[in-house]
Amino acid sequence: MTDPKIAKLEKSRAEWKKILPPERYAVLFEEGTERPFSSALYEEKRAGTFVCAACRLPLFESAAKYESGTGWPSFFQPIPGHLATQRDLKLIAPRTEYHCARCGAHQGHVFDDGPQPTGQRYCNNGIAVEFVPEGEPLPKLRE
Ligand SMILES: [Zn+2]
Repeated sequence: MTDPKIAKLEKSRAEWKKILPPERYAVLFEEGTERPFSSALYEEKRAGTFVCAACRLPLFESAAKYESGTGWPSFFQPIPGHLATQRDLKLIAPRTEYHCARCGAHQGHVFDDGPQPTGQRYCNNGIAVEFVPEGEPLPKLRE
């Protein structure tokens, strides 16, 4: 469930398009998918936090990241309440899409073949997040 303390950020697609580089905009707001193994964050193993590349809300902690072998950064759980989901019926087998609970930017899809303790696999586009190493301040939320 979405954390009720998160104030939603309402911005039009046109505004996001002005702020974000085109490859980022395509994934975050047109539900694009980056090529597997294309993101440096796939190999990121340092301790830290992954924040939404659109509004900077923290979405995942590195402790929940694992090697899935898929070519996309994968996590077994998000920061509670910081993601929202919806059924994605574009493919024949329905998938569950998830997005940032604050700004609505698309992040990836969640599957139930992940490791314990949750059994879930959040398959995230690397370009949809930014990594902040432990010890560095988290960026200010975008307004
Ligand atoms: Zn966001």
